[in-house]
Amino acid sequence: MNERGLLIVLSGPSGVGKGTVRKAIFNEEDTKLQYSISMTTRSPRDGEVDGVDYFFKSREEFEELIKKDKLLEWAEYVGNYYGTPVDYVEETLQKGQDVMLEIEVQGALQVRKAFPEGLFIFLAPPSLNELKSRIQTRGTESEDLINNRMTVAKEEIEMMDAYDYVVENDKVEFACERIKSIVVAEHCRRERVANRYKRMLEVE
Ligand code: 5GP
Repeated sequence: MNERGLLIVLSGPSGVGKGTVRKAIFNEEDTKLQYSISMTTRSPRDGEVDGVDYFFKSREEFEELIKKDKLLEWAEYVGNYYGTPVDYVEETLQKGQDVMLEIEVQGALQVRKAFPEGLFIFLAPPSLNELKSRIQTRGTESEDLINNRMTVAKEEIEMMDAYDYVVENDKVEFACERIKSIVVAEHCRRERVANRYKRMLEVE
């Protein structure tokens, strides 16, 4: 019997570059990860292909999928629905293949509840600490603006608590390497490996 695959959730604040990093990972020919193509009600952008970038759905179709429990998670983001088809994820994990979702933070929190054993990676903006001290020490910004930026920075830091790993997106190639290393390490976790060895010993 195959080991179940890993469910890998790549998430993080908006604008951090999740899409770019995910595309860079899947552009590599030797990747063994499977990408879960999301459903969305937003219109396709130039060059986007239905069934490749997203499954583009009407609001009615999407709401029907919610009703029928066909989505592992879903969220409304900037006026459009986004969601992960549950069947593809389940079937792929069952085959022993790793699946990556690239989703916004609300959806990631839902997946955490449904799949606590998943691997949750938070993509962080580069030099958040630096940004923080800069905001505090720079005297030229208005107080409102400083407070506003601090609030956003704090919210971003707090969101990390729900994740297993934080990867700084200082450079796309570096972020990809870190993510791939995390996946390799996760496969070596004792909890994952021990059962296989126990079964081997039972056969002996
Ligand atoms: P975009 O419209 O730019 O392709 O995506 C907007 C946001 O939706 C991004 O943060 C992306 O990660 C997120 N997103 C894409 N697919 C899903 C999904 O299936 N579920 C959730 N919750 N967010 C998604």
